[in-house]
Amino acid sequence: MFKKVLIANRGEIAVRIARACRELGVRAVAVYSDVDRASLHVRLADEAYPIGPAPSRESYLVVEKILGVGRYAGCDAIHPGYGFLAENPALPRACVDAGIAFIGPSAAAMEQLGAKTAARQIARDVGAPTVPGTLSPINTVDEAREIAREIGFPVILKAVAGGGGKGMRSVAGENQLAPAWRDATSEALNAFGDSRLYLEKYLERPRHIEIQVLADHHGHFVYLGERECSVQRRHQKVMEEAPSPIMTAELRKAMGEAAVKLARAGTYTNAGTVEFLVDAQRNFYFLEMNTRLQVEHPVTEMVTSLDLVKLQMRIAAGEPLPFSQEEIELRGHAIECRIYAEDPDNNFFPSPGKIVDCGVPTGPGIRLDAGIYAGWTVPNEYDPMLGKLIAWGGDRKEALARMGRALQEYYASGIKTNVSLFRRILASGDFQKGAVYTRWLDDFLSAGPALEGLEDEEESRAEQAAAIAAFLWHRRHADGANAFEASTIPESRWKTESRREQVNREPQP
Ligand code: ADP
Repeated sequence: MFKKVLIANRGEIAVRIARACRELGVRAVAVYSDVDRASLHVRLADEAYPIGPAPSRESYLVVEKILGVGRYAGCDAIHPGYGFLAENPALPRACVDAGIAFIGPSAAAMEQLGAKTAARQIARDVGAPTVPGTLSPINTVDEAREIAREIGFPVILKAVAGGGGKGMRSVAGENQLAPAWRDATSEALNAFGDSRLYLEKYLERPRHIEIQVLADHHGHFVYLGERECSVQRRHQKVMEEAPSPIMTAELRKAMGEAAVKLARAGTYTNAGTVEFLVDAQRNFYFLEMNTRLQVEHPVTEMVTSLDLVKLQMRIAAGEPLPFSQEEIELRGHAIECRIYAEDPDNNFFPSPGKIVDCGVPTGPGIRLDAGIYAGWTVPNEYDPMLGKLIAWGGDRKEALARMGRALQEYYASGIKTNVSLFRRILASGDFQKGAVYTRWLDDFLSAGPALEGLEDEEESRAEQAAAIAAFLWHRRHADGANAFEASTIPESRWKTESRREQVNREPQP
């Protein structure tokens, strides 16, 4: 196993990786931008190094800076987390040159399977069903029109370099094609520096279901079941669960085997996710592969009792997978909510700022993967995800009940959070039945004003109660508010210093 791992990330995922390092007896090395000096991932690491100003293109996205720290600190491996450099082949390539292990696939596998059109071609070659559409980028809007006529509207334009729902436009009919082309092209150029688009048939009311795969350096491939990720806002996942409420043993096997075939064809190693859209008849279509750890990996961990980050590290260190496909068992049901500092009453506008106090749900079946603490200021330069709340239950009903209970215990005062959104989703009949599709939440939110007043009132009562509870708790514990940090984390000056700069907010990809 490695001795020292550099974590090329921040926030909850950097904390998650540092925890895995601790459990394996590996030293965790953090990097931080100027606004992240006091971040939790820095506090929890064994060593931490500054890498420059807040904008990520001057810090977290600079391969040379990351490698520079890796060499200086004597790291033998780098974990990229998700976002930032996680899907940039320049990082694994630089790692090879520096003689540092990259905890992820090779640059070549990342290039083949991570590029959307190239991966669609491989899927086609191995016989995995893909959404009808183009296998290479389209050059002009006229070409797009011709192809769209052939496969029939509605279609969806997508950025070749896409991610996070950016550079994507659905097009209902021919008259919408030209403006959608313009919007998607410029959005893709802005977000990825690559304006190339391709086109797919737009599926009506599909589900997004993805398969977690693992591959070692000895030719072993396994799939760890699926995650249902259909609860999305504007094509971005909000809530995920495992297993999918519509899954059958046959479908799981078929999707799992298709995912493994694709990974094998791309000579993939380490953890990866193969995403599919599934229609009402349970036909599945390959969407894309994410060549990294996913935000929603904890739901898979909860139902498989496996630790994906530790497995990633073991694989990168050259160990063979310690189990076969037949030995993987799924137990119970897990659900995850992505908690953001954003204002659900103001179109989910980011709401960074100082966290005055926060309540941490615990108790049976609850896990909180967060990158925050009371007194910390959520910077406005990055993706405002505070963390993920995960609930496990013996069955779906118990998992949902536990999530509902944990959401009542969660609060973060001083900033706005999207917690009320999850309460609304959990209370909806459709969600309880598992009757969702990728646009379900958008439809639900645009249809729901009648309920809104009532829920707001309920919510404000809950918020008042939480604030009073927090106040009383503080008074009772006078100096003990940071008891956890004070008792477990040694103090040092650089750790407690915080500097805040107002620069343009740069979202994490
Ligand atoms: P990104 O990489 O930007 O996240 P994806 O290709 O993974 O983009 O798609 C994200 C989401 O967009 C999907 O989960 C789904 O909701 C929607 N989507 C993508 N392709 C289609 C399609 N062909 N038909 C219908 N919805 C789609």
